[in-house]
Amino acid sequence: VPAVVAEGVSKVYGSGDAAVHALRGVGVAFARGAFTAIMGPSGSGKSTLMHCLAGLDTVSGGRIVLGDAEITAMGDRQLTMLRRDRVGFVFQAFNLLPTLTAEQNILLPLDLAGRKVDRSWFDQVVDVVGLRDRLKHRPNELSGGQQQRVACARALVARPDVIFADEPTGNLDSRSGAEVLGFLRASVREMGRTIVMVTHDPVAASYADRVVFLRDGSITSEIVGPTPDAVL
Ligand code: ADP
Ligand code: ADP
Repeated sequence: VPAVVAEGVSKVYGSGDAAVHALRGVGVAFARGAFTAIMGPSGSGKSTLMHCLAGLDTVSGGRIVLGDAEITAMGDRQLTMLRRDRVGFVFQAFNLLPTLTAEQNILLPLDLAGRKVDRSWFDQVVDVVGLRDRLKHRPNELSGGQQQRVACARALVARPDVIFADEPTGNLDSRSGAEVLGFLRASVREMGRTIVMVTHDPVAASYADRVVFLRDGSITSEIVGPTPDAVL
């Protein structure tokens, strides 16, 4: 069973003459344990597709199934729970709370959900992102790359079924961006996570196992096969 599937998904913003067809019958499946990138020019529908896949936005037609859950048939309460318990997010803006330490930021989603922290899993996540000696620092004491690694750790620590990353390197210099991408890749390789990443950056996409191309709301092509570690 794939981690997420979209079947004939359409999305129309507005109506009548002002209607924008952001997605036009998108069908795509995202395998478990894979790192998939969605690429395409600005306005091609990447963010809309990601928001629909993650239950952040409703579709106009078609179906989305996340694991065993048909999210296009869910109401708001169920969607809120699904996003809290089964999905992780990394955005271009790091969205950390400035008054909390790195460790408190990482643990916040579990705290809010009233879930217990598995210390060995937390330690594993912190070591993979290389934040061991930064846990007591607040966001303004961390570099942009470190802040985004905190955001990645926060997405990972709850063991979501899928992590959705929207332009995760958009605010980073190329070196910090490469660190974050290397970490996302490692979380797939070494920790069996599933990542769906939206990007317009070919370098970022080269870290993925598979790249799906969107144009004018339709999938036009895809490339399967990871870039060898030696090339990155
Ligand atoms: P991308 O992420 O590839 O840049 P988007 O998914 O943001 O593309 O946008 C796809 C199309 O939908 C664009 O034409 C955009 O202008 C339009 N669009 C996106 N969000 C909205 C919205 N909230 N209301 C109206 N149109 C929107
Ligand atoms: P998978 O790696 O196959 O996706 P999980 O990561 O969900 O599976 O779970 C792997 C192991 O971690 C299981 O033994 C599970 O009990 C445990 N586990 C699941 N969720 C958590 C959590 N939030 N904290 C700590 N351990 C967890």
